Amino acid sequence: MVVLKEKLSALDKIRNIGIIAHIDAGKTTTTERMLFYTGITHKIGNVDEGNTQMDWMVQEQERGITITSAATTCFWNDFQINIIDTPGHVDFTIEVERSLRVLDGAVGVFCGVNGVQPQSETVWRQSDKYGVPRIAFINKMDRMGASFEAAVASIREKLGAPVIPVQIPIGLEDSFVGCIDLISQKALYWREDETGSSFEIREISEDDLEKSQVAREALIAFLADINDEIAQAYLSSREPASDDLISALREACLKLKAVPVLCGASFRNKGVQPLLDAVVRYLPSPSDVAEVKGVDPEKFSKPLTRRASEEEPLSALAFKIITDPFVGPLAFVRVYSGVLEKSSAIFNSTKKKKEKVQRILKIHANQKEDVEVLPVGCIGALSGLKFVTTGDTLCDLEQPILLESISFPEPVISMAIEPKTQADQDRLNEALQKLTKEDPSFYVRTSEETGQTLIAGMGELHLEIIADRLLREFKVNANVGAPQVSYREGITASSEVDFTYDKQLGGRGQFARLSLAIRPAERGSGFSFVNQLKGDSLPKEFVRAVEQGARESASVGPLMGCAISDVMVELREAQFHEVDSSELSFQVAASLAMKEACSKSRPVLLEPIMTIELAVPEDFVSPVIGDLNSRRGKILGLEEKATSKIIKAEVPLSEMFGYATDLRSLSQGRATFAMEPSHYEAVPSNISKQIIGEMTL
Ligand code: GDP
Repeated sequence: MVVLKEKLSALDKIRNIGIIAHIDAGKTTTTERMLFYTGITHKIGNVDEGNTQMDWMVQEQERGITITSAATTCFWNDFQINIIDTPGHVDFTIEVERSLRVLDGAVGVFCGVNGVQPQSETVWRQSDKYGVPRIAFINKMDRMGASFEAAVASIREKLGAPVIPVQIPIGLEDSFVGCIDLISQKALYWREDETGSSFEIREISEDDLEKSQVAREALIAFLADINDEIAQAYLSSREPASDDLISALREACLKLKAVPVLCGASFRNKGVQPLLDAVVRYLPSPSDVAEVKGVDPEKFSKPLTRRASEEEPLSALAFKIITDPFVGPLAFVRVYSGVLEKSSAIFNSTKKKKEKVQRILKIHANQKEDVEVLPVGCIGALSGLKFVTTGDTLCDLEQPILLESISFPEPVISMAIEPKTQADQDRLNEALQKLTKEDPSFYVRTSEETGQTLIAGMGELHLEIIADRLLREFKVNANVGAPQVSYREGITASSEVDFTYDKQLGGRGQFARLSLAIRPAERGSGFSFVNQLKGDSLPKEFVRAVEQGARESASVGPLMGCAISDVMVELREAQFHEVDSSELSFQVAASLAMKEACSKSRPVLLEPIMTIELAVPEDFVSPVIGDLNSRRGKILGLEEKATSKIIKAEVPLSEMFGYATDLRSLSQGRATFAMEPSHYEAVPSNISKQIIGEMTL
């Protein structure tokens, strides 16, 4: 294996980017081409290698480019570009969220025929939430029905994005041959060779001249509106210099005031090199991003910040753990400040453990590269860490900081899993342990009633993929049960319970008296406990025991034994006995009091509700809506789109098993959908009775 020479990049020469797209828009193809062209530039840098470009590509195809890696590093004109993987399927929105946390900018890949599709909309909005600057690439300009203008308009209208083309296509569909760069005012024609690695720069042809002048005019007018220098040039009818246009666009892009738009056809090897240039030109470097915020791990109320500088103490976030078949567990990290060094001891401030970094790896398209250090702004993978899980902060031992963790929603679906043989049992346990480490939205637990192992996650597909990985990757033969909805319980009224626990156990008495009040709490707030007792009327350890007892009891609801969500518990009164009271007596008393209070507070069964967004061709809209209604769906909105309608709805998860197949047959395979967990809601009482009846039979 060729080990690439270690390459340290100045902070402003780094780009940490993600590629976000609807499934099928061409994310994989575009990423592959980016890695291919950057591989070439790298090879050209390494004259000793002497490989021809074609050889390199064939090799790559044989080995399979590592584009599925959590983060891949490549170099483009001395810039280090780290491409962070963002998954395309909506069952993995959480994965998208966590990658958005660590990247600085993104490329939105859109299909030139379909424009904005549901999933790209979801991810785009998540990027808005995290304030991620973006550029857009309209791909598939070679396809029948492609329209650059329509795609740009759909991004503007559907996503409310301040899009501004910096290119326009030359030709369309079959005759798409290149693009006009509106900044340099040159025409780029790709040579029809197999790799598209070269293009010719020509003057703009007579045919395209007027069109490109109008588009350039629009670009300058757009920038004049938000940039004083361009405004001055514009008002005095002076042609702004290319560099001024680029820096005005960069500034606007970083402030989320502009989304520069480019076009191409990745599959036809057209348009990818200018896209790489645009990544470097318009997307932020780590030094453009505000300092990272966190708290003192010993005192959460004390805020701390770290600037993106080598001088600052180390802070880094582990955003993905994968198990590499050769290297073992690898933690992908982004360094926010300081320098991470090989063989150094660091502090995992989330787990409060010291960790040792054995190796630092950078993952390239075709190889792993061992490096000595990972400086500020960089992304790489660490081996040797024992305690790390996704979302953990790694930092300097002496100057710890706890960065905001990545929030992971509770699982909404579970299924039972049973190994076929004893050998499978051992492998299964080990595999499940690895998978939970890798994927924080994946949970494993044991069913209290049946003793079965349950795996739980964010959706049907999520668990299907896990089951498939168990078989393929970990060689575990197991039977999986049908997916089950993860229900919860909630209370709908307040109540107060006075409870006295007074028992004689052996020689000693057990005494505790308390009064607990409970009420429904805000959605998503979980379990909270407030001690309303005055002063020290009850020893602290007994108060803690009360909280523990109440919390334990809330994890087993009165209806079906599901956890109770969103409840506020108040300890209002308490009495103890000098000799006969103990932590255990208070814990038991609180648990029994809580149980009684929950039963009195009109408990209801809660079910997960999913938001679903569908793109449905006109002809199939009414059967699809009819079907959603029959699944207890609530239609939230209906929007027109060129050839189809976008339907937004909320539907209980329990009604959505096998939906992908049903939708395919309802729409002759032409409708698409994206679905994600939204919130929990009370199950209608007739259905709830039925479910509780089935469960308690
Ligand atoms: P992803 O799901 O977004 O990763 O999309 P892929 O890169 O896997 O592409 C989906 C399909 O679109 C594949 O069949 C590609 O060959 C095809 N595709 C990708 N880019 C282009 C393009 O520029 N033109 C055409 N005609 N097809 C493309």
